[in-house]
Amino acid sequence: MQWLRKPSQQGVNTNIAPLCLYLLFPLYPSFLLFSYFPYFPHFPRSLTKNRRWLIAINYHLLHWVKLPKQLTNQNLEIMNTQHTNTATLAGKIFIILVLIFTANFKSGFAQSSDTIIIGNASIGNATGLLVDGNNDPGNQVNDSTFISLTGKASVGSFNPSAFSNEIIAFNVDRPVAVSTNVPWTTGNDNISVNFSNKIMIPITIWIVNGNFSTQKAKAIAAVNTAAAIWSAERMGVGFSSVTYIDATKNKKSRNYNSFTCSLQAGLQSDIGMVAGQVNVYYVGTVDGGSDRGQSCAIGSSFIALAANSLSDLLCHELGHGFGLTHIDDLTTYFDATNVMYSASSVRQFFTEGQLFRAHTITNSTLNALYHARPGQVTRLCARDDSSLTCPTIHKRIWADGTFPAN
Ligand SMILES: [Zn+2]
Repeated sequence: MQWLRKPSQQGVNTNIAPLCLYLLFPLYPSFLLFSYFPYFPHFPRSLTKNRRWLIAINYHLLHWVKLPKQLTNQNLEIMNTQHTNTATLAGKIFIILVLIFTANFKSGFAQSSDTIIIGNASIGNATGLLVDGNNDPGNQVNDSTFISLTGKASVGSFNPSAFSNEIIAFNVDRPVAVSTNVPWTTGNDNISVNFSNKIMIPITIWIVNGNFSTQKAKAIAAVNTAAAIWSAERMGVGFSSVTYIDATKNKKSRNYNSFTCSLQAGLQSDIGMVAGQVNVYYVGTVDGGSDRGQSCAIGSSFIALAANSLSDLLCHELGHGFGLTHIDDLTTYFDATNVMYSASSVRQFFTEGQLFRAHTITNSTLNALYHARPGQVTRLCARDDSSLTCPTIHKRIWADGTFPAN
């Protein structure tokens, strides 16, 4: 972009740029001479390059100035004194029509009006959309955000991109829906995005240590908390079944009262495990703490919870199973209210960036263990990846407490 420069105070300026094709900067800051509608960026090209007229709109006046063949300090000064010609009302209307016409002409007379048609959304709940494609000037748009309260979302004008044409959709009790290779055209598009039904997963909870009924009550509270957070935060996952098993009478249970991950294999061998599910074990302590938990790996189907762990910890450990890691160090965008904060009693939120990863990370239990998304998109988005294919981890369509949508 080139700028029409302010004439130098010394009267000598050998570096006056040609008239800017896109934006003409006000020559003097005391008034907005030669500024004009920013909404029609191609307007000065057609009206200055070809016709050698400069038309400017400032606060309430409309001016035109015939441009000199060559821009020099001298004739710029002359132009500054010519600007006060005030247009008639008819002239103003005419120029505005010209502006509208040229704006439409550049884009083929009409910007397209594209609609995303949302299938199988949950009743009464808004759908959030992150949309990729080219915008009307032809620039790549990444994760442009829309919210629809109906089965349709008007998203303005999207055109095909050489890089990313994608829609990611979020809704309450619906898995994250990812549509790749969206067939945007330069015309009006109606693009369908369909949610799958809520993913329902079975888990088994083993009460290894402590009083069975007391610990089972804690486990039930933790399950209910996880389900409530998932629903409120649009994880789109629920429990199809939860099996509670009393292992407190197992003679070997005492070997696992003070759990560390080095005991994982022995615990599952001695106490039991159900293949194809996440297995949760309530023990005495985990890593020496009576309120800690461990999944022992990202993407794990194993969870150990200490006897006095709070009810939001199960959701956190299941989040590790979904491939999510801690976000404690990302203090600009996260605090202890996020489910993946390492030590917290107020876990509540997932970002849309986290939801996307939970569903698309290849070794998420949703994909690798439960095979709940057959044939659907998987991605290798690390926590800190931010690209056309990986929404940033702190991407929020809706505010999370004090953290606004972004
Ligand atoms: Zn953790």
